[in-house]
Amino acid sequence: MFKKVLIANRGEIAMRVHRACRELGIQTVAVHSTADSKAMHVRLADESVCIGPAQAKDSYLNIAAIVSAAEITGADAIHPGYGFLSENARFADIVKAHGITFIGPSAEHIRTMGDKIAAKKAVGDLGIPLVPGSPGALADFEEAKAAASQIGYPALIKAASGGGGRGMKLVEEESQLEEQLQAAQQEALAAFGDGSVYIERYLKQPRHIEIQIAADSHGNVVHLGERDCSLQRRNQKVLEEAPSPVLTAEERAKIGETTRKAIQGLGYLGVGTVEYLYENGEFFFIEMNTRLQVEHPVTEQVTGIDLVREQISIAAGNPLSFTQEDVTFTGHAIECRINAEDPRTFVPSPGRIQEFHAPGGLGVRFDSAVYDGYDIPPFYDSMIGKLIVFGDNRELVIARLRRALEETVLAGINTTIPLFEDLLDDEDFKTGDYHIHWLGEWLAKQEEAGEG
Ligand code: ADP
Repeated sequence: MFKKVLIANRGEIAMRVHRACRELGIQTVAVHSTADSKAMHVRLADESVCIGPAQAKDSYLNIAAIVSAAEITGADAIHPGYGFLSENARFADIVKAHGITFIGPSAEHIRTMGDKIAAKKAVGDLGIPLVPGSPGALADFEEAKAAASQIGYPALIKAASGGGGRGMKLVEEESQLEEQLQAAQQEALAAFGDGSVYIERYLKQPRHIEIQIAADSHGNVVHLGERDCSLQRRNQKVLEEAPSPVLTAEERAKIGETTRKAIQGLGYLGVGTVEYLYENGEFFFIEMNTRLQVEHPVTEQVTGIDLVREQISIAAGNPLSFTQEDVTFTGHAIECRINAEDPRTFVPSPGRIQEFHAPGGLGVRFDSAVYDGYDIPPFYDSMIGKLIVFGDNRELVIARLRRALEETVLAGINTTIPLFEDLLDDEDFKTGDYHIHWLGEWLAKQEEAGEG
C-alpha cells in the first residue's frame, strides 16, 4: 500500500480522498492555491504545499507545480479527484514518468475515452449499444447532411473533445444544419482546442443512467449497478439517485453485465463510469468517465462499498476486495448537489458562510469542506457540498431528504437548497416520472408562475 498520497484537488473531493487515506493509514499531502490557504483539506492533511495563484490554470491545473510538490514531499501516488487534471492523459503520463503512481487508469484509456468518437468506436466494438450517429468526425456540411438524413431529425451535434455538457448543438431540421455545424465547430475549437464534431440522434425523453465499474490489475472487473442522473440543468447533473426508479432487476443485471464484459475487454484499470441514455427500455452509450464521479456516494450507500478506498487499493496493485457475487443492493439513496448559487437565477454566490450547521441523523451524509466563517472563493466551481440521504425505500428517503434540507444552515450566501425543497413537492419527482429535459421544463414553468 502507498505511504503518502498527494491529493491534486480541492473542496469536498479533497476531503473525501483524505478520509479514505486516513482509514487506510496513508499520509496525505494537500496542494492549494493562494485563495485556498485556509481550506479544510489543507488544515486536515498531514502536509500542504501552495502550488500557485488563485486561477485554476496557475494552480490546480499546473502540472509542473503539482509534480514538484509530490517530489518534494515524497508522495508515492497522486489522486486527481474529479475535474481539474483527472482526465488529462498528459498529466497521467508525466506522473508515471516521475515514478509516481497515478490513481486512475492508464493514460491510453484516458486518451481514448476523452475523444468521444474514439470512445464510441472502442466500446461499440465490445458490444456496448451506441446512440445511432456518424461513425467519425464530420469533414464538411455534405457529410453532416448525409449522416443526419440517415439518423433523422432532431439530431445533436457534439464535440469529440466535449465535456461538462458544453459544445452541443441541437438541429431540429435540415435548414438549421449548416449554421449549427459551423457554430458547434467554432465553439468546440474555442473551448477544447479541437474543432472536431460528430452527430447523433437526439433522444427526446431519455433518462441518464450510468453504470459504475471497478477493475483491478488481476483481471477482475465488477459492476456496482446504476445511478439515475436524469435531473439535469443545461446538461449538468443536479440530483442523482440509486437505484433508478424505473429499472427492473433484470434490466440492471443485463446492462451491468454487458458493461462489465466490455470494460474487461478493454483491459481497463481502476474505477470508471459508463454513461447511457435510456429510452423505451433501450440503452444507448454516450460516454465513459475514467475517474471517480461526483455522485459516487449514492452507489456507496446502496452497496456498502467504499469506492475511494477500493480505488486507492487497486492502484496499489491489490485485487478487488469483493467479487461480482458479493455485490448486493440495499435500499435507496439520493444525492443533492448544494451549490453556492441563487436558487432561481443560478448566479454564483461566493462569500462568507456566517453560520453553518450540517444536517445529520439516521441515513444522512453530508460531504463538504465548508465550516463556520469559511470564505467561498469566487474562482472555482460553485458546488460546496453534497447531501446524500439513504434508507429502506425511495418514499422514506424523500421524507428524510426534506427534513435534512430543513436542518441545513448555510447563512450569508445563497444556495440551491430552496430549489430542492420545491422539487420534492412535485408529483412527477415523487413518482420518479422524469427524464433529462424534465428539470429544464419544470424550471421554465416555475419562472412563469413566479412572474405571473
Ligand atoms: P459531456 O461530456 O459534455 O457531459 P455527454 O455526452 O455526457 O457530454 O452528455 C451530457 C448530457 O447531454 C447527457 O447527460 C444528456 O442530458 C445530454 N445528451 C447527450 N447526448 C444526447 C443525445 N444524443 N440526445 C439527447 N440528449 C443528449
